[in-house]
Amino acid sequence: MLDKINAIRGMSDLLPRESALWLYLEQTISDLFIGYGFKNIRTPIVEKTQTFSRAIGTATDIVEKEMYSWEDANGDLLSLRPENTAGVVRCMIEHNLPREGIQKVFYQGAMFRRERPQKGRYRQFNQIGAEVFGADNAKAEAELIAITHTLWQNLGIKNLQLEINTLGSAAARADYRAVLVDYFTQHQSQLDEDSKRRLSNNPLRILDSKNQDMHKLIAAAPKLIDYLDEDSKQHFEEFKNYLKQLDIAYIINPRLVRGLDYYNRSVFEWTTSDLGAQGTICAGGRYDGLVEKMGGKPCPAVGFALGLERLILLIEAQNLNIAKPTKSIYIIALGDESQLKSMQISAQLRRALPQIIIYNDISFGSIKSQFKKADKANADFAIILGTEEINNNQLAIKPLKNQGEQQNMSLEKAIKYLKG
Ligand code: ATP
Ligand code: MG
Repeated sequence: MLDKINAIRGMSDLLPRESALWLYLEQTISDLFIGYGFKNIRTPIVEKTQTFSRAIGTATDIVEKEMYSWEDANGDLLSLRPENTAGVVRCMIEHNLPREGIQKVFYQGAMFRRERPQKGRYRQFNQIGAEVFGADNAKAEAELIAITHTLWQNLGIKNLQLEINTLGSAAARADYRAVLVDYFTQHQSQLDEDSKRRLSNNPLRILDSKNQDMHKLIAAAPKLIDYLDEDSKQHFEEFKNYLKQLDIAYIINPRLVRGLDYYNRSVFEWTTSDLGAQGTICAGGRYDGLVEKMGGKPCPAVGFALGLERLILLIEAQNLNIAKPTKSIYIIALGDESQLKSMQISAQLRRALPQIIIYNDISFGSIKSQFKKADKANADFAIILGTEEINNNQLAIKPLKNQGEQQNMSLEKAIKYLKG
């Protein structure tokens, strides 16, 4: 026998028995965005590497070490997308969309990062995200947060905490950066290797370190909030006011800086203590300078991305019963004539009852083995179709999940019965 080939580490299959919840969430979240006036956008999974290095920043973990990049046959440098904001911004500029007015878009799909795989952290993972272009007021970020808050409520998710912070303007951040470099340089002996490297190229990222040993040092570091410019302070006040109006609780986390370079002003994360180290479910913020940096006309923007794998881990951790099962029927067909007839009947049932799942038997087994298959499919009803039923123009219906009796009835009656 030949060797079998396995999937790549950190890139997993979604098995048929696990996919119902995924489909349900993708549909529910899409409907939610559409209800808030957002439109779906789809950009390619592969982009020029430059799209990401310019947007995300070369001194970030993603661009430094996590991207899947290669030189294409024609010499182009290409990458699998590690996130989708860069591609959406590229698309907005290429098609001149912000010129048509405010753009509210959402996307969903696979992202790729070469990280160390562990619970809640994979090399291929799925994000659902939203971006708003052309609005510079805090009402835009508040609406994004309202959407996610509604989602948690609709799904019945508990124990999610909204953390917010402001990164101020580029100028305020530059002042703060200098103060921070001073502080960490004075305490250089307490820095880990990653942080020593970041001290010169991305000192704000030290604040985001996941190394517990450094938390004391980080907690005592100067806070960006004390170096804010007036406009950003005002914007942050407005942001908090909207959240109050929406009755959405938050905490201000002065160490929240986000791992990507492009953010300014508001940043936010929804975090949970139910998933260990990978507790950030959803993260985002404002990135007013990015469109210009990517070659477009200046255009304020704000967005977020939600990790679907982590959302599903949380749903499982909280034991939420979310995707409602659909009523299902297994049509047991006995004899050659019934095989043909069952296809006709299933088509008629499907037209009358579009919500119901209908399994047509394709095993051609004995009645006993077909009943077993119906049970295995977790069907609510079996319809038995044999020569006698066909001759009498009747169906035999048997409820499988309670002790109900098997009954014979016409197709019309069966439709009414199954609707009930
Ligand atoms: P983390 O700090 O956990 O590495 P991040 O700051 O790199 O997250 P973002 O780039 O902001 O994450 O992505 C938004 C969301 O996408 C995260 O909050 C998380 O839910 C999800 N996510 C990011 N990286 C991964 C991954 N490797 N595997 C699974 N989900 C991920
Ligand atoms: Mg990361």
